Amino acid sequence: MTPKIAQFLRDHAPATPCLVLDVDRVEENYRRLKAALPLARVYYAVKANPAAPILSRLTALGSSFDAASWEEIEACLAAGARPEAISYGNTIKKVSAIRAAHDAGVTMFAFDSEAELEKLARHAPGARVYCRILVENKGAEWPLSRKFGCELEMARDLMVRARDLGLDPYGISFHVGSQQTSTAAYEGAIARVAMLFTDLKDAGVKLRMVNLGGGYPVRYRAEVPGIDDFGMAIMGAMTQHFGNDLPEMLIEPGRFLVGDAGVVSSEVVLVSRKGKDDPVRWVYLDIGRFGGLAETEGEAIKYSFRTPHDGGADGPVTIAGPTCDSTDTLYEKSNYRLPMALACGDRVELLSTGAYVTTYASQAFNGFRPLAEHYV
Ligand SMILES: *Cc1c(COP(=O)(O)O)cnc(C)c1O
Repeated sequence: MTPKIAQFLRDHAPATPCLVLDVDRVEENYRRLKAALPLARVYYAVKANPAAPILSRLTALGSSFDAASWEEIEACLAAGARPEAISYGNTIKKVSAIRAAHDAGVTMFAFDSEAELEKLARHAPGARVYCRILVENKGAEWPLSRKFGCELEMARDLMVRARDLGLDPYGISFHVGSQQTSTAAYEGAIARVAMLFTDLKDAGVKLRMVNLGGGYPVRYRAEVPGIDDFGMAIMGAMTQHFGNDLPEMLIEPGRFLVGDAGVVSSEVVLVSRKGKDDPVRWVYLDIGRFGGLAETEGEAIKYSFRTPHDGGADGPVTIAGPTCDSTDTLYEKSNYRLPMALACGDRVELLSTGAYVTTYASQAFNGFRPLAEHYV
């Protein structure tokens, strides 16, 4: 928690549940990332947190943006981003959205299939296109599975076809999975991209760009490698495979830029037990899976908690949200412990919740309104 967030919580005691996010911390994270990977252009993955104060600050810092929908593109433009600084990175786009983006001056688009490539040729003629390939997501705590990307051989054929369709075959992208804790994931993916560059050069298509995607992790309960470790591993692999013919490098950080800049403040609604001698207490908060904590599914992302009783005796707990749905249980198997003194009405802070929370909140499941947001 940054001093600014702590002070805001002290001075205002805002109604819960809410997110308080320190935009200066986003700037710090941006600068740390640029220092670790000075040759890479940053395309902030807007979906991590699309709030206007974040987009404006990043625009002022010279960041570019990775948008997944026409609505996210509009948010970037409204924050002052130039259309040339926006990549339409979703490989699944409605024709109407492709047209709107093209008309607004967006020139860079992702794809991973022939049908999408044909849509782009027709509705965004001449655009710079990049193909997303499948890569291993091992080491990622929030993997992206096989939903996006295609196999290398297919990517090769599609890039040739992109040229034949009058598009600009710009480069290759991958995403090693979110909250990626292994630097080796990037090294393996870069090796695959380099093979494609060689194959396509032989086919007369000279690619110019590698998009290294997102994945850079945030510290939750467990320690993770620092951003400098990722920078070194990535640059090592890039020079190993491309020598002094380095292509343009793009990165699409989401979680890393905003995750540790935000804190969710919530209230304990109930502390109870299922049996008189049951050692495990159930702690129900006023925020849960449907209030924005979607990444607790499968207990994948393990947030840290702050309570007013930290330091006192603690005991095992199951932590759950306030709705009448049993999937609204956050942590049952991850050995969470909270103070024995914790009681109904206490405020509990969830640390590093600046990414993938506000937009994941349901509209009003069980009548609960989405969490409030404060940018300080
Ligand atoms: C979600 C996403 C990102 C951001 O991933 P993080 O793990 O938050 O860094 C980047 N690129 C694409 C294409 C994405 O879908």
